Amino acid sequence: MTCGKIDLGCTKCRLSKGRTRVVAGNGPCNAKLVFVGEAPGRDEDVTGVPFVGRAGKLLDTALMEAGVERVTVYVTNIVKCRPPRNRKPRKDEACTCAELYLSSELATVRPTVICTLGQTATEYFIGLKGNMSEVVGREFALTAGDRIVKIIPSYHPAAVLYQRKKMREFQRTVNAVVRSAKLANPR
Ligand code: URA
Repeated sequence: MTCGKIDLGCTKCRLSKGRTRVVAGNGPCNAKLVFVGEAPGRDEDVTGVPFVGRAGKLLDTALMEAGVERVTVYVTNIVKCRPPRNRKPRKDEACTCAELYLSSELATVRPTVICTLGQTATEYFIGLKGNMSEVVGREFALTAGDRIVKIIPSYHPAAVLYQRKKMREFQRTVNAVVRSAKLANPR
């Protein structure tokens, strides 16, 4: 299920020109835990569903390992259209899209924990300028209206696929976000 407002015909930024589909977030609208990635890749662009490719499968496995099924969490991205050749979304694209759609998703779901997957999402939420290694697994507090939301950065699962030595830290972070959202009690 997609939560919040989304325009499946959006043309608010240049990414609309190269996409096949707008890829909205997916999951229950009362999820306590939200994962925010960067942008749809090829598989997501074709199916219209976030994190269904190799990176998504790794996220599913890590969640399962932590004792949680993917269907119980909400998964979305900073931008909803695939950038050309999978380049990083530009600042203006990220801000335009997130302010229109991600903010609406989060206002609807009202999670207690947001796990940012990779640099783009982490920059957006906590203004990270340095290296991901400085913040992965740490907890940041974000005030959202009348609530405090916990932000926990993680390596992006696609980065973990390229650098297998990050796998253990990735699993540790997924365990930590699951624990923090009180969904299960992994190690
Ligand atoms: N990478 C992302 O950041 N998001 C997806 O949906 C798929 C891969």
